[in-house]
Amino acid sequence: MAATEMTGGNTAAMTALEVTGRLRPYGIMVADDTARVFDAIEQQGGCARFVGGVVRDALLKRHLVDVDIACDLAPEATVVALENAGIKVIPTGLKHGTVTAITEAGAYEITTLRVDVLTDGRHAEVAFTDSWLEDAKRRDFTFNAIYCDLDGTIYDPFDGETDLREGRVRFIGVAENRIAEDFLRILRFFRFQAWFGRPPIDPIGAEACRKAVNGLRDISVERIRDEMFKLLRSRSPAGTINDMIGFDILPAILPELIQVDCLRIMQWLDSTALADPAIRPDPLRRLAALFSPGDNKQHSDMQEDNLAAAERFARNLRLSNEETDRFAEMIAHAPLIDPKLPIETVRRDLYRMGADAFRDAVILAWSARGAVPPRCTRLENEEWKAFLEAAKNWQPVKLPIQGRDILKAGLAPAGPRVGMLLKRAEEYWLDQDFNPDRDELMDYLKRQLTAGDKETE
Ligand code: ATP
Ligand code: MG
Repeated sequence: MAATEMTGGNTAAMTALEVTGRLRPYGIMVADDTARVFDAIEQQGGCARFVGGVVRDALLKRHLVDVDIACDLAPEATVVALENAGIKVIPTGLKHGTVTAITEAGAYEITTLRVDVLTDGRHAEVAFTDSWLEDAKRRDFTFNAIYCDLDGTIYDPFDGETDLREGRVRFIGVAENRIAEDFLRILRFFRFQAWFGRPPIDPIGAEACRKAVNGLRDISVERIRDEMFKLLRSRSPAGTINDMIGFDILPAILPELIQVDCLRIMQWLDSTALADPAIRPDPLRRLAALFSPGDNKQHSDMQEDNLAAAERFARNLRLSNEETDRFAEMIAHAPLIDPKLPIETVRRDLYRMGADAFRDAVILAWSARGAVPPRCTRLENEEWKAFLEAAKNWQPVKLPIQGRDILKAGLAPAGPRVGMLLKRAEEYWLDQDFNPDRDELMDYLKRQLTAGDKETE
């Protein structure tokens, strides 16, 4: 027997799963490397089946990315099986029964059939089993517990296929109990709702999440961030975000995320208005749409406050330095962008910010403007689009003079004065819409210096 421990009924009838249907495998499911992994496990006397995302996505005929496999070999035996077949294997989480097979076609997460014996809402102590049904019961949602053989035979013990077809995210077992075992399931519930659910959200699941929300305080912020990003990558997350606010989830963990209307406009822009392949759903930009820096309108340096609040939020969420900068720049700049800005100012922003950051700020500003009455007129929408067009066509330019030109012409000795003069030349160059060339800028500086000398005489 392959399993290291038995749980529950040992009769074949109780541990096996019934065949419930078939699908036609495609993509990574039919790759040669996939067959090698399955074959290696069989050679060792085991049985492997696809499970989780790959089966769910195959039923929806979506592009298949990650492959999760369940198998009835103990993890150490799986390692041996793969090594014998010459497949590279990483013991990702032996204690939890997971190893990763690495092939040219991709990585395969292979997890031994298991049950959770002890849970505290964050971690589980697991035992291995040879019961496919027990393994199915420890999974979260009905459509995440569908198994599939290499040839497409389907085993769907909780009728997840119907739930998937009807857009219902349903916990396996009693929602309250399943959440108490692992509070991250609260966020997984809403993430899967955003991807596969059809409104209205299942009130039983959502209500159970509301009651258990305090458990999320014990979940690491990195896991919360990752789930939020996965949710925000779905096509139209605003409805689910609204549910997360309505069921008291977001106020408990990320109270700054409140601007659902802004997100709604942004997702509309992502999907319809901006037929530009450079602009695709971007979770960080969507996070910025939702973010409200709080009420600091009475301050004169509102931009500074927004920047500081955005940075604080991004750091607390453990965003990378690059993401933090991008997030904060969007929040700080969007309020300064107005569809009536003259094109010279737009070019100046493009020069200062770069095309990507400018595009971010425009989309955020447009979404924010569209979210409050009186919404954008058709003309205004055209103006915003023109900004994006300007960003698309923007060719980065460089100030035509450098510090060494100033030194060579003897306009200043080496030191901070060179930087000051460069700044002055840059201001003039920008005021003249990038027109002055090198000679004109040098003449300008010389004129400035003589005028300055006169003033000080
Ligand atoms: P995706 O890979 O698209 O994020 P997935 O459903 O494959 O979605 P994974 O996190 O890869 O999700 O997990 C694979 C499977 O493991 C899930 O489909 C589910 O059956 C099970 N699973 C993962 N996390 C949990 C959890 N917290 N509680 C219960 N079961 C889980
Ligand atoms: Mg997966």
